[in-house]
Amino acid sequence: MDIINPATEKVIQSLNTDDQNSVTKKIQKLKAGQQAWKKVPVEERIKILLSFGDLVKENLEMLAEVLTSETGKPMEQSRNEITGAHNRIVHIKENGLRWLSRETISSKGAVTEEIDYEPLGVIANISAWNFPYNVGYNVFLYALLAGNAVAYKPSEFSSLTGLKFRELLWKAGVPKDVFECFVGGAAVGEMLLEADLDGYFFTGSHRTGKYIAQKVASKLVPVQLELGGKDPLYVMDDIADVEQAAVNAAEGAFYNNGQSCCAVERIYVHEKIYDDFVQAFVLEVASYKMGDPLQKGTYIGPVTRKEQLEVFQDQVQDAIALGANLQTGGKRKEGKGYYWEPTVLTKVNHQMKLMQEESFGPIIGIQSVKNDAEAVSLMNDTTYGLTAAVFSTDKERAMNVLDQLSTGTVYWNCCDRVSPNLPWTGRKNSGLGVTLSYQGIRAFTQPKAYHLKP
Ligand code: NAD
Repeated sequence: MDIINPATEKVIQSLNTDDQNSVTKKIQKLKAGQQAWKKVPVEERIKILLSFGDLVKENLEMLAEVLTSETGKPMEQSRNEITGAHNRIVHIKENGLRWLSRETISSKGAVTEEIDYEPLGVIANISAWNFPYNVGYNVFLYALLAGNAVAYKPSEFSSLTGLKFRELLWKAGVPKDVFECFVGGAAVGEMLLEADLDGYFFTGSHRTGKYIAQKVASKLVPVQLELGGKDPLYVMDDIADVEQAAVNAAEGAFYNNGQSCCAVERIYVHEKIYDDFVQAFVLEVASYKMGDPLQKGTYIGPVTRKEQLEVFQDQVQDAIALGANLQTGGKRKEGKGYYWEPTVLTKVNHQMKLMQEESFGPIIGIQSVKNDAEAVSLMNDTTYGLTAAVFSTDKERAMNVLDQLSTGTVYWNCCDRVSPNLPWTGRKNSGLGVTLSYQGIRAFTQPKAYHLKP
């Protein structure tokens, strides 16, 4: 499998992909390894994961270069992702023991009642490329913490990073028969779906997620899906600083080239401030430096997957044909690399694909609304339900809107944010199940009820 640098379109490295034989052998190894790993005390597992965190920090620059070379993420954002993901390890350190320890629920009657949290066994982690540290850690670190062995399949667009995870986890003390990396694309993912595993944890598109859920349903093992979004942001007319709101909204839409599951994908602005907001927003976006992701100051690099350029082209053409105004961008940059000019469209509506289908790139539509009720109705008009944000100085007014939205996460005066303290969960087509928070620790366990009568 050729690994291509999206900035240069050159092959950086060629990897041998797994085949049925290697997949079977690796899974047999993991099944044996998990039997010993589940007996390692939680405190000891936490120590090993902390060592992994230290190794990642020590190798920050090298790891950031690997990530940038295979995904096109600007270096500064690669460093930010790697450093930021460490908060999961801190969360594990501070909470792991508490939520995995055996609990005595009742000891008053003749029967003592306890709950133990046993690991699931060997789980598959089929992952995405856009934030491999964040979304990988959410699953494989928490799964290891709980005593599971992990069959990790990085995306074919971030395989080099996946192999680095394996190298550093092993070096930190995770046994070689407890974490394995499966290299390849959909075909290797399929082999994991066919295998006899104890849980499926997937991060990726709605299309693949739904397919996986159907494919493994008859196994009756836990399935969690972290899928896409079409996340709305509503800017109310009472905000104190329109320009600052525009800068923050633009960051939520264009950070990581818009390739975040919780990127702002639709913006609604109260009609009283619409023109001022659009003007400030377009000015901000036009100032972004696009270019070589290795160069200091680059904010917009190439997108990771060449095929996505066709999605942008289609969404822009469709929106313009239905009456949208193109404010800036709207086309591919000439020359080598998968570059797409940051794009802003106004006079948009929900007949357009741009306001309905996940763009997953540097492209956004801004729509004017008359009042909060219209904003709520438009924000909920989607098949997705990952996050939604409101900018306002009035908390009560903002909360009134947020309370009416069907999403797993809501934000007041912030957006595009994930915290290990809070559950990360999508509604509707955005997913199934929870990672992060105490619920995301327990997600990798199965409770066992003890009725103990002396
Ligand atoms: P994708 O669905 O194309 O691929 C995801 C993974 O599934 C890859 O490892 C891929 O090799 C594997 N895969 C593909 N077909 C398969 C099959 N038939 N059987 C088994 N495995 C298969 O998604 P992607 O392009 O890697 O990721 C982008 C998507 O992920 C976006 O929709 C984004 O919103 C979403 N995402 C969601 C979250 C979240 O937390 N909700 C986080 C990051 C990304």
